[in-house]
This record gives sequence, structure tokens and C-alpha cells, in this order.
Amino acid sequence: MIIVMKKGADKEALAEVKRRIRELGYKPHVIHGETRNVVGAVGDERGKTVLQALESLPGVETVLPILKPYKLASLEVKPDPSQVEIAPGLTVGGDRLVVMAGPCSVESEEQILETARSVKAAGAQILRGGAFKPRTSPYSFQGLEEDGLRLLVRAREETGLPIVTEVVNPRDVELVSRYADIMQVGARNIQNFALLKMLGQLDKPVLLKRGMATTIQEFLMSAEYVLAEGNRRVMLCERGIRTFETATRNTLDISAVPVLKAQTHLPVIVDPSHATGHAPLVPSMCFAAVAAGCDGLIVEVHPHPEMAVSDGPQSLRPNEFEAMMKKLREYAAVAGKKI
Ligand code: PEP
Ligand code: MN
Repeated sequence: MIIVMKKGADKEALAEVKRRIRELGYKPHVIHGETRNVVGAVGDERGKTVLQALESLPGVETVLPILKPYKLASLEVKPDPSQVEIAPGLTVGGDRLVVMAGPCSVESEEQILETARSVKAAGAQILRGGAFKPRTSPYSFQGLEEDGLRLLVRAREETGLPIVTEVVNPRDVELVSRYADIMQVGARNIQNFALLKMLGQLDKPVLLKRGMATTIQEFLMSAEYVLAEGNRRVMLCERGIRTFETATRNTLDISAVPVLKAQTHLPVIVDPSHATGHAPLVPSMCFAAVAAGCDGLIVEVHPHPEMAVSDGPQSLRPNEFEAMMKKLREYAAVAGKKI
């Protein structure tokens, strides 16, 4: 249920509403609006009508049911787009287009430093790189693990770029969160609810990648798992879904961007690298994603794609990334965004 407070309702009235929500066995989530506050009361759907009684409390304007199955992720609870703070001066959402770039896997100090320097020079604001890799085959490279995290931190120290890196297992959440600025949940883990709940208890932004067979509603329900635990800093990432088409690695569901935007206040990022699987297709899909209204991109870049231990064929070379970024500025300007 949504408890809409009156304009100018005071702190005491809000505190009383929160207290009563808890008393009834629900969790209050306050969303501070420009003119008024609303409180989302989430919990067991079955007995929620008891919350209707809050309408008689001082300072409460009305109590409404949240119609969507996802609650805190919905525009019903929070109609204005969320801005997710990554680092001082860097937020995702709003009128900025944020570009995350870097290799699929962290491979060596030289590789990550060289990539970090080049993507920064080209205008990326966040460095990506996998230290824990979820590979289809158990015989493929599984990542440098903590050594990889340390190398990412070295690259951050040198370039100042915050780092986004994947956590594959609930067991590693604490370890990865000591190094990462953004915790990435991979496509294969989007319904790992134990992992999502743990990330909900962190004070760190989370990048959720849509599963290859996840509907938009399931995707938003996964986001809800993180939000319901109290972590508001959630970003969604469309990275292609599996279809009958084999010309591309996945099929970029570009319409997921406006569809998500019509249903959620959470920022939407697009990953054209995993969506297409082919570097030459990446720039045009970046431009298309911007035209569709995304808040950011995550792009794989490798100094020597032919030698990459993972995802070489879809990785842009630094000069290709730079050329893409140049053109992207024009598309971003048309879409009303700054890079
Ligand atoms: C990745 O970002 O390197 C990755 C493994 O992506 P996904 O989870 O989308 O397949
Ligand atoms: Mn990859």
C-alpha cells in the first residue's frame, strides 16, 4: 500500500505512520518528494487491507493499493526517475549519460591499466572488469578473483574511475564489496534470490543484468528483492535475450528500455557487447540505446581483443571505443543528455 502524506505534514506525523506500519507487520519505505512524502508499506499481500486504517492518522492524505506486483520499483510509489549516486559528483539517471567500459575479464595489471587509461581518455566515467567470471564451461577461465579485484583498485587509484565488477556467489559478497564501487549481478544470477537479498543489505549500488530468459516483470521482481531489503541504489541492465536468432549472440531487446521506463523509476543501462557478441555491431547498438532513452551503457573494451581470455570477438579496441564515444556525444545531445 502507498500512504500519501499531506503537503506539509510534519516529522511526527511521518514517524507515527512508520511506527503503525511496523506494528501491523509491514516494512515502511519513505520516498521524499518535492512537495509531499509517500510511504510504501510492503509485506504480505494477503492482509494488506488493515493498512487502510492509517488513513485516519494525522497528516495522511490517502492510502492506496500498489497495483503492480513489484512495489518499490514501481512508478506508483515513486513517479520521478531515481538518480543513483556512484561516487561524489557521479550519479546515474537524470540528464547524464554514463558510460561504463573495460574488459570482460581482468587479466593482468598491464591489461587493466592500459584499458582504464584509454577508456578514461575517451570519456568513460566507470571502469568495468570481471574478477569472478560466470562461465558456461567449468574448463574456461574463471577469473583472477581477489587478485583481479586488487588490480581493479590499482586502476581506480590511477585513473579515479569507480569500478563495476561482478559478484557470482553470496559467499563472495563481503569480499567483492570491499573493493567494488558497483556490485554487478550477471544474467545467470538474476534469480539468485539469496544473492539479491544480501546485496539489498549493502550500502553499495547494484547493477542488475537481465537474464537471457527473464521477462520484464521477472526482472523488476528481482530488483524488488534488492529494494525490499533497504538498498535503493539499483540500476537495471538490458544485455540481450535469447531468441531463435543466431546471427547475434543474443537479441538486444531495445524496446525493453522504453518499456522499463514506463514501469520503473530505476535507471536503465544497455550492454550492446553481450547483446550482439560482435564488436562491429556495438557502436550502432550504443546509438540505438541512447535513442531509446537509456541512462547509460556498459561496453567491453580490450587493448588486444584477439588475445582476450573471454569475449574478445565482442570487445572494441581502444581506438574503436574512442571513435564510438565521439559519435555518441552527438546522439546523446539529440536525446537531451550530456556525457
Ligand atoms: C559480463 O558482463 O561480463 C557478463 C558475464 O555479462 P552477462 O552476465 O550479461 O552475460
Ligand atoms: Mn563478457
